[in-house]
Amino acid sequence: MSQQVKSRTNVPVVPYIAAWSAERGPRARVVGGPYGIGYADEQPYDRDAHGVLWTRSAIRRGVGKPELGRVHPARQRRAMRLMLCQVCGNAADRTEEGALWLLKDDRGVTSTWPEDLGATHPPVCVPCATESVRRCPHLRGQFVAVRVRRSVVHGVHGIRYRPTGRGPVPEPEGVTVAYTDPAVRWVRAFQLVRRLNECTVIELRG
Ligand SMILES: [Zn+2]
Repeated sequence: MSQQVKSRTNVPVVPYIAAWSAERGPRARVVGGPYGIGYADEQPYDRDAHGVLWTRSAIRRGVGKPELGRVHPARQRRAMRLMLCQVCGNAADRTEEGALWLLKDDRGVTSTWPEDLGATHPPVCVPCATESVRRCPHLRGQFVAVRVRRSVVHGVHGIRYRPTGRGPVPEPEGVTVAYTDPAVRWVRAFQLVRRLNECTVIELRG
């Protein structure tokens, strides 16, 4: 049964990129080769155009329970590649200043933030951005709206495997690896990463 609930403002309660409980698996056994990892029963759709292996996920959006802490790899990748809003799945907002992103506010970390930031959360549209901040007031202090004029697909975020005599062994922490880095052949990706440049922090009116 579908539970794709929409609020009165037509902004989905469950974000487009969130995974649902019926979307787990199918399981796949990771095997090692001379130049990287693969699946024992690999199919052509298991890799992206750069030849990187992706985490498999069933596509059954709206079935079961939403798992808000878990990102659906295929929808995240689609939204990031096509610059779709991570909440509603329609086109992200774009003006002369660039596409709209909601980013965790790390202005105190470096003076140039968010230039060169590797983003794993896709951009947003204006209604979803304002509604998200309205619904979750704590976002107001932690997140900031940014216009990004230039963002390029940079690499993937995922689990890196270490080759051993017993086959490839996953490392415990997720890593971000550029497509230009040969190590990407040892990563099982689950999020596409864009690098953000020409950024302007803006005030979100809502
Ligand atoms: Zn939206």
